[in-house]
Amino acid sequence: MSACAFALCGVLSIAPPAFYDHPAIGWKIDVVEMPLAELQKTCLGVRSISKNEMVLGCEADFAPHRYAKVFLPNDVDPITRWSALRHEIAHINGWPAEHPQ
Ligand SMILES: [Zn+2]
Repeated sequence: MSACAFALCGVLSIAPPAFYDHPAIGWKIDVVEMPLAELQKTCLGVRSISKNEMVLGCEADFAPHRYAKVFLPNDVDPITRWSALRHEIAHINGWPAEHPQ
């Protein structure tokens, strides 16, 4: 497992650094979509974060198997959704949970 071991919840205002901002080549990624309200509970369930934090995505990766699950909202605008996916893929690429730039 990577540094973002079981799950990481994305604060989407944070764009990933260029080093991690690329496709996760060689990974199988399943995208699980759900309404934003449901996503809050799903992501809060896998990582303890502040309930005041707005979560737009999270991921669980299993690095030895190069398999990841990305959880995204299906009731937001396409740009927000895309930003969330990009953020979570950067975590799959090894971007640590603390979001260092
Ligand atoms: Zn994140």
